[in-house]
Amino acid sequence: MESAERAATRVAEQGNGASGPHERLARLAARLLSTPAAAVLVQDGERVLVGATWGAPAALRTGATPAGTFAPLAAGVPLVIDHAPAGPEGDALRADGVTAILGIPLALPGRNALIGACVWDIQPRRWGSDEIALLQDLLAAIATDPIRAIRATSSDARLHDPAIRLELYASILARADEAVAVIDEAGCYLEQNDQHRWLLGFADGDLRGRTPALHMGDAAFARLLEGIRGSGEFRGDVRSRAQDGTLIDLDVTAFPITDAAARTLCIVTIQRDITIRKRAEDAARTLAGERAARAQAEEEHRRVATILESITDGFVALDRDWRFTYVNREAERLLERERDQLLGSCIWEAMPETVGSEFERQYRLALKERRPVAFEALSTQVRRWFDVRAFPSASGLSVYFRDVTQRRAAQNALLVSESRYRSIFEDARDAIYVTTREGEFVDVNSSALELFGYDRDELIGMNAGALYAGQGGRLKFQEVIEQTGYVRDFEVRLQRKDGAVLDCLLTSSVRRDEEGQVAGYQGIIHDITERKRTEAQLLHEALHDALTGLPNRTLFMDRLSRSLERARRNRSFLFAVLFLDLDRFKVINDSLGHLVGDEVLAAIAHRLVGSVRPGDTVARLGGDEFAVLLYNIENLTDATTIADRIQDTLRQPLTIRGREVFTTASVGIALSSTECERAEDLLRDADTAMYRAKELGRVRHQVFDRTMHTRAVELLQLETDLRRAVDRMEFTVHYQPIVSLATRELEGFEALARWNHPERGLVLPADFIPLAEETGLIVPIGYHVLLEACRTMGRWQAAYPRARGLSLSVNLSGRQLAQPDLVDKVRAALAAGGLPPGALKLEITESAIMVDPENAVSVFGEMRDLGIELCIDDFGTGYSSLAYLQRFPVTRLKIDRAFVRCLLEESSNVEIVRAIVTLAQNLGIEPIAEGVETPEQQTRLLDLGSRFAQGFLFSTAVSADEAELLLPR
Ligand code: C2E
Ligand code: MG
Ligand code: MG
Repeated sequence: MESAERAATRVAEQGNGASGPHERLARLAARLLSTPAAAVLVQDGERVLVGATWGAPAALRTGATPAGTFAPLAAGVPLVIDHAPAGPEGDALRADGVTAILGIPLALPGRNALIGACVWDIQPRRWGSDEIALLQDLLAAIATDPIRAIRATSSDARLHDPAIRLELYASILARADEAVAVIDEAGCYLEQNDQHRWLLGFADGDLRGRTPALHMGDAAFARLLEGIRGSGEFRGDVRSRAQDGTLIDLDVTAFPITDAAARTLCIVTIQRDITIRKRAEDAARTLAGERAARAQAEEEHRRVATILESITDGFVALDRDWRFTYVNREAERLLERERDQLLGSCIWEAMPETVGSEFERQYRLALKERRPVAFEALSTQVRRWFDVRAFPSASGLSVYFRDVTQRRAAQNALLVSESRYRSIFEDARDAIYVTTREGEFVDVNSSALELFGYDRDELIGMNAGALYAGQGGRLKFQEVIEQTGYVRDFEVRLQRKDGAVLDCLLTSSVRRDEEGQVAGYQGIIHDITERKRTEAQLLHEALHDALTGLPNRTLFMDRLSRSLERARRNRSFLFAVLFLDLDRFKVINDSLGHLVGDEVLAAIAHRLVGSVRPGDTVARLGGDEFAVLLYNIENLTDATTIADRIQDTLRQPLTIRGREVFTTASVGIALSSTECERAEDLLRDADTAMYRAKELGRVRHQVFDRTMHTRAVELLQLETDLRRAVDRMEFTVHYQPIVSLATRELEGFEALARWNHPERGLVLPADFIPLAEETGLIVPIGYHVLLEACRTMGRWQAAYPRARGLSLSVNLSGRQLAQPDLVDKVRAALAAGGLPPGALKLEITESAIMVDPENAVSVFGEMRDLGIELCIDDFGTGYSSLAYLQRFPVTRLKIDRAFVRCLLEESSNVEIVRAIVTLAQNLGIEPIAEGVETPEQQTRLLDLGSRFAQGFLFSTAVSADEAELLLPR
């Protein structure tokens, strides 16, 4: 290419050359046709100019437009003038030294712009046809193909003159486009044309005496000579080195020029620069090679692509600039993106969701540390989880990935369910375990550890058999489960590490291996120890008295029934029922409070149990009632002996809360007999006997007999009668005077209830008050007494003015105290009798107050506000103290007749009465002695400082009429 450029430059320079090809041609033409002058016409654009002249230059000037005689030639018209004509025209020619002209225009203008040549002479001359043809041929040959022209002319006879021939060749050579050189027979350069000079860059001097081997090398030159010698011509591509060292590819044609005798005169070499073509060919070859390589690469690529397309993974290749260079079909599918869209684009732009994601982090890591990475990540764009493996390569990163969304979901589900089951397992309150067939624990939950008190390390590997309390426990379990494959709520007794025995329900199933063999067991252990205990407790509670822990009525009746049955079957079997009722327990309870009462009961229960034989049953039936079942006794004496023993035991004082409490019991005894059909009857008989014992003065036992039954029936009758009596108000009031001890002067009356029984006559309070209290009938009875007494006293005071200072005492039951309308009723009674409140004194016992002291305080407060005085009845029989009674607005107290009665016998009673009187007086309370029957008692009481009293010594309770007679008039 370089040489081609250079050649082009040189061609351009040649156009300006002084002895260029046009001059040579002009000279050759003059020589060939033996004329003194010649010129060559060339085309320059639109114009025809004289390209060169040779010889007499006056006729035509180089660079001028041919004019005059030569003008037609410029227009392409041949000029053949042998002799310039006479006349001005001829004269003008002759003036320029022209007589004869031969001008040949070239039919094929164009090559080097040669369009014609002409020769002329100052002598007239006849232009022969040979000469015309010669000039025509010469021009045509040179203009069209200089090489052919050489060949054509080399054998031309007309050109026999060596000088002309050389001139011809030189001219031709000058005109030739190709680089042409002439070498002699021995191969040395004779001549080179400009093209040759430009092509190879050697000056004529450089070539003198040198062969073409100078630039083409010996081998190529030898091949050239060989070719000529052989076939008369050489044609071939030869690489030559130009003078400046440039390598030029040449298409070389060489042929010899011979004379008529076929002797070689010289050798012409024609060399065409084919460097460009060669290079192009080389390039083409290279290109072809590259193409092949590319084809191969493509084939490889195709092969790889086939593989990459056929793999089930998504695959993308990224170059170092994070651009996609490959995306397989699966990748297209998984990424939900077109391949064309991704290829060539940067991943961070094409898939913005990857920016900042695990994908980016891992890819960068792989490239940075040049190591493969594998990871799973979620594509937020396509909502798929991918399992990704990325391999760094020289060109970037190869990324394989597959969709693991489902697997992950399944795994997750598995994990969730596994963890769910694990948490159910762990969180279960019941113990859950898995064992081998032999019973070794394989897995246990924390509840199991907690239940058995072992550490996990201790329990795992331990044999379940070791947990069974008692021998062979597990064997039985195993026997059952291997038969049925399943046990449910199998009751077992297991042992904690600390030795405690647990009642458990075992639900277990067999675990089998693939062959169906028992591989082990798993199950749930539900601890029912507490439940069992509770059940036992409930059963115990259902059958036992909570306070004393003794069997209750139900259990007692059950045992009694069994005993009865046994007695029925076995006539010699004898048993007895003891019915105990504590004497005066109500007093203890009311005055010391329920808590003390409860403790007393518990202590008595304890004593009772200690007084009987182990096989006997002591039960608490309720309140202060106990029953004893004396099992299998010999005779009645056995029963009475035990009853005595019980009473002896109970008689011992109890110390409760630092206080000595005395209790005694009344015992009723019923012996088993064939007469009794039911257990209830037997117990009732004992109860009846106990009542009888109480009636007979307490602290004793009484064996049941039939008459008692009759009495019991009578009591029931009494209750019926009492109800009827309340309906009909069969009650009247008697009045017992209260007198001054010193003067026996009447101070007032105590109103006392009497029952006018239609059949039995007058019934005393002792026979009906307890029953009335018990049944609540005391409330209407008490109100009736109050009303009646108030009316009577009102009447008396109205009738006898001196009676106006008398007091009226009315007894008030604890039951009445609990009535919310008591105060209203009292007020109404006072109003009904027209009695001033100051005349009324209400008597109430300590124990009645103690039932509800708070209520008593408020009721008494209201009474006092009304002006009614309060009086403590039967003082000393309860457990209250005076200090306590101070809380109540009490103005009087009645010293129980029990103290009065014993006043003369025991000195201690004197002291008690003295203390009571002194204390009462100190507190501003008036003591009144009850049950004064003798003058000695009267004297003693007077000595002790007591001022008032009542008793048979003065008067019994008498009817209203009788009492009226006692009034002062
Ligand atoms: P009380 O309130 O202590 O009444 C005194 C009782 O002692 C009366 O018996 C009376 O007749 C008796 N008495 C009086 N002086 C002597 C004596 O020197 N020697 C003996 N041995 N006894 C004497 P009464 O009338 O049989 O009443 C018994 C109890 O019945 C009364 O004892 C009282 O607690 C109760 N009571 C009587 N009437 C009523 C009433 O209307 N309502 C209430 N709630 N209770 C009444
Ligand atoms: Mg009284
Ligand atoms: Mg009394």
